[in-house]
Amino acid sequence: MFLARQGISTVLVDKSVFPRDKICGDALSGKVVSILKKLDATILDRFNASPIQLNSWGIKFIAPNLKELKIPFKVNYDTSSPPIGYISKRMEFDNFLVDEVKKYPAINLIQGKEISDFTLEDDEWTIATKDNSTLIKAKLIIACDGAHSSFAKKIGNINMQPEHYCAGLRAYYSGVENLDEDNFIELIFLKEFLPGYLWIFPLPNGMANVGVAMRSDIVSRKKVNLKTSMLNALENYPILKERFKNAKLVDDIKGFGLPLGSKKRKISGDNFMLVGDAASLIDPFSGEGIGNAMKSGMIAAQVAEKCLIANNYSDSFISQYDIEVYNKLWSELNLSRKMQQLVNYPRLFNLVVNKASKNKVLRETIICMFDDLDLREQLKQPSFYFRLMFSK
Ligand SMILES: Cc1cc2nc3c(=O)[nH]c(=O)nc-3n(C[C@H](O)[C@H](O)[C@H](O)COP(=O)(O)OP(=O)(O)OC[C@H]3O[C@@H](n4cnc5c(N)ncnc54)[C@H](O)[C@@H]3O)c2cc1C
Repeated sequence: MFLARQGISTVLVDKSVFPRDKICGDALSGKVVSILKKLDATILDRFNASPIQLNSWGIKFIAPNLKELKIPFKVNYDTSSPPIGYISKRMEFDNFLVDEVKKYPAINLIQGKEISDFTLEDDEWTIATKDNSTLIKAKLIIACDGAHSSFAKKIGNINMQPEHYCAGLRAYYSGVENLDEDNFIELIFLKEFLPGYLWIFPLPNGMANVGVAMRSDIVSRKKVNLKTSMLNALENYPILKERFKNAKLVDDIKGFGLPLGSKKRKISGDNFMLVGDAASLIDPFSGEGIGNAMKSGMIAAQVAEKCLIANNYSDSFISQYDIEVYNKLWSELNLSRKMQQLVNYPRLFNLVVNKASKNKVLRETIICMFDDLDLREQLKQPSFYFRLMFSK
């Protein structure tokens, strides 16, 4: 859509026909909101007017000692003002975006065709679909085919590394009790999933998205069966058991991978750029990937326009994409990588939650950390925890 707004024609191919499901927590952060605003000043009005989303006003962290810390996205938030985050089933949110795509004549949208072949010759790709029904010629591929991207593997040489990858499970439930009245999303850091967590995110129509994510190397090392562990946690932890006693599982529990951005990679090359999960850009602490997928998509559109103007699609020219993506995202990804390591020390996590639940100034500092990366940097300083130990 960013390219179409510049009058640049594209072919957009997806193997699915929308609406289609995507296994996800369905939480849309402030980053998603800010990119949608950059794309189109009125798109959020249309999203707000549709019944497919809930406005979310913050996060509830539950520490390994089961103490709770409620952190709104903003101090003194007002639920009558535009929200900072949303929760919306990907089945519906992605379809909403595809409906927006259909408004742009410059986008040739092809659904239900899986791309299986891509050959680069004389500065031009020949792209074929699995059913051999469609052949596309293009100067540039922007590969955004997700966590299992065959393009990233074959052309980008990006392979799955268990220590930079998470296994995730998602379940939809109805009838979960005690969901937050302002739709705070809940991240529950139970000791068996550290440094990952179990989540409960409220959804429209009294539904909830419930899931777990855990680093793949730890799943293998500890021989964890994620599905059994998640169901055990829901049945046996008193804080969960009560809330799930009348809950009904809707649909199967489904799993999918999360390629984490805890490591820099080469994400472009001759005539291509990798975007979103294909480029492994998921936040290693929060598991948030939609915002970074959109942000990298926006940057890819800017670089594509430069390639077109310069008629230069070479690796050396296009590598400005890597520079720009990591300029914008690396400090945050790197900090989240360190926070993911810290969460492995449950006592530190317990300390922050214990102190913050009693100390308003500390709570407000943590709220400001959502927007202020320099402030968030404090979380990786030993002095921060040392001061906490001696604070009231
Ligand atoms: C369990 C779980 C929970 C998560 N929770 C959250 C969350 O709450 N919030 C958040 O921000 N992020 C979350 N994420 C991460 C988020 O889902 C991803 O980061 C995000 O979807 C990445 O977007 P993408 O466009 O790169 O890839 P995708 O959303 O995976 O889209 C890829 C598209 O490519 C298509 N495709 C694939 N292969 C081909 C092919 N060969 N030919 C044609 N089309 C193809 C697919 O049909 C799909 O539509 C979660 C992930 C998981 C697994």
